[in-house]
Amino acid sequence: MRLIDADRMKEELLWGNVFLPAIQTNTLVDLIDNQPTIDPESLRPRAHWVSDWMYVNGKQVCAKWCSSCGFQSWMKTDYCHHCGAKMEEMATEKEIGGAP
Ligand SMILES: [Zn+2]
Repeated sequence: MRLIDADRMKEELLWGNVFLPAIQTNTLVDLIDNQPTIDPESLRPRAHWVSDWMYVNGKQVCAKWCSSCGFQSWMKTDYCHHCGAKMEEMATEKEIGGAP
C-alpha cells in the first residue's frame, strides 16, 4: 500500500495538465472522494515488551526485549526505538513480578 495525497490528485485532475472529458474527470474525482481515509498510525506494527532477569556485572537486572525485532531496552517505552512498533501491554509467561 502507498499513501498518496488525494486532495493533490484531485487538483491535478481538475486544474493540471490532464485533459479528459468533464464526465471522466468528475467520475475520477467522485471515485477519489469515495475512498476511505486511512489513519497512518493504523499501519504501524504492534509489539510488546518481553521482560526477563539477567546478570550484568554480577548484578541482577530486569531487561526488556521487543517481541517484534528483539531489540533490548532497559526501560519500557511507548515505541520500539529499533523497529518503530507501537508497544502494547501484554502479559507473557516470561513476564515476572519480582526478582527470584
Ligand atoms: Zn522492535
